[in-house]
Amino acid sequence: MKRRNFIKTAGLVALSPSLLASCHPDDANFKDKSVIVIGAGIAGLAAARKLKDNGFQVTVLEAQDRVGGRLRSNRSPGIAFDEGASWIHGINGNPIANLAQQAGMETFHTNDESIVSYDLGGVKRSDSAYANAEEAFYNILETLKNQGSANKSFETVFFEQYPQYANDRLYRFFLSSFVTFDLGDLDQLSSLLYDEGEEFSGIEKIAVNGYDTIPAYLAQGLDVQLLQKVTQIEYAGAKVLVTHNFTASEADYVIVTVPLGVLKKNIITFLPALPVAKQTAIEKVGMNCVNKFLLTWDAPFWDDKQYIVYTPEAKDKFNYFVNIKKIHPATNALMTFAYADYGRQTESMTDAQVVQEIMAHIRDMYGVGIPDPTQLFRTKWATNEYTFGGYSFTALNTEMRHFDDLAAELNNKLFFAGEHTEIDYFSTAHGAYLSGIREADKIIDLQ
Ligand SMILES: Cc1cc2nc3c(=O)[nH]c(=O)nc-3n(C[C@H](O)[C@H](O)[C@H](O)COP(=O)(O)OP(=O)(O)OC[C@H]3O[C@@H](n4cnc5c(N)ncnc54)[C@H](O)[C@@H]3O)c2cc1C
Repeated sequence: MKRRNFIKTAGLVALSPSLLASCHPDDANFKDKSVIVIGAGIAGLAAARKLKDNGFQVTVLEAQDRVGGRLRSNRSPGIAFDEGASWIHGINGNPIANLAQQAGMETFHTNDESIVSYDLGGVKRSDSAYANAEEAFYNILETLKNQGSANKSFETVFFEQYPQYANDRLYRFFLSSFVTFDLGDLDQLSSLLYDEGEEFSGIEKIAVNGYDTIPAYLAQGLDVQLLQKVTQIEYAGAKVLVTHNFTASEADYVIVTVPLGVLKKNIITFLPALPVAKQTAIEKVGMNCVNKFLLTWDAPFWDDKQYIVYTPEAKDKFNYFVNIKKIHPATNALMTFAYADYGRQTESMTDAQVVQEIMAHIRDMYGVGIPDPTQLFRTKWATNEYTFGGYSFTALNTEMRHFDDLAAELNNKLFFAGEHTEIDYFSTAHGAYLSGIREADKIIDLQ
């Protein structure tokens, strides 16, 4: 599963090893300077690690009872079900590829070419029909933005230009699984900025023993205080005051890494109020919804391919299946997705309703005799109070400068990191990591 693989491949950034080599204990001379990092996702942990390695006194305040944030692995299925990030998108120069090695995160190359596609009624498409349509779709994405406009959504512009695909189930699958999944709701997505951002080249790798291996590794030796929900930050004085669980702590610097969804809900009161530019950016950058569903069976009945495509009439609904057996040969499991409004809708559905909807698709492909799954595991990212959504995207009124506004520091005291602050790599684990390193560097440079 290639993230935004329609994006230009020119201008790929190779990270210098110095960015990754964060440990300079010999240079440590900032022992009197304190930093509070809010949020123990990969952005917060990357910043905290780098600052601690450079001699700062660092405390991480995390609202949940564990580190990792959206790098969250559920091991109750008997394998690690990654509820947030699963893939390292492009391994060449990607800092996550290096980190995975250091942290002992095993990975598996998911072959994008290993795919089978079914239409309604379980009619298998020929490989060439699928591949030709996919190529034509990507060609459209290369140029669609030339017809884009500030007040028209991606969906409006796409169907104005290509009305012939309005009822084409395969094109609607591509729109759902390649655009909505990577970015966000098509009716809210910018028709001008849908291909912004950079990507790393190289193969896609999926985590085998859990993406949370990386945050667990980064957190080693850090002072991470769990179950500390931050509700207020006062940043006008010489020290920054942080209120968490009705306690106040102070530090010379604070880095806020809570998700964009949390900022949108005003769960943290900033005193003084955040500047208008930052408030505007919080409002204008989009926050999507992607939910994941893992189903297990006693025996496999599906194709021996990495990906199984199904093209129902309904939008964004259980149309893409990852064959987990390819990754874990002893586990008979499929992972599927629900995006955007349908993804949000699933969060109020019971497990039985979800299984019924997924099984309708699976039985249409593989036969009415297929048994119900033995287990279902699922996510509810839109209503998760520590995230309120999946990841950021370029919405209708987003401007690229909004990502820089989200990243802008205030008074050289209050700093902001997180995937939504990374203009080149927003929405990804590597973007989040790089944002944490960036903010740590800013604080180091102030000394
Ligand atoms: C379903 C899904 C699939 C994804 N797939 C991929 C993928 O395959 N590859 C990829 O590269 N990326 C993927 N991503 C994106 C990636 O997971 C994120 O970009 C990245 O993990 C974000 O890291 P972060 O540190 O910015 O935020 P987070 O990981 O969300 O960390 C923020 C932390 O702040 C904490 N927090 C929130 N509120 C408070 C508060 N008031 N006080 C204290 N702490 C608070 C949260 O609990 C959390 O731990 C996916 C995300 C989702 C949701």
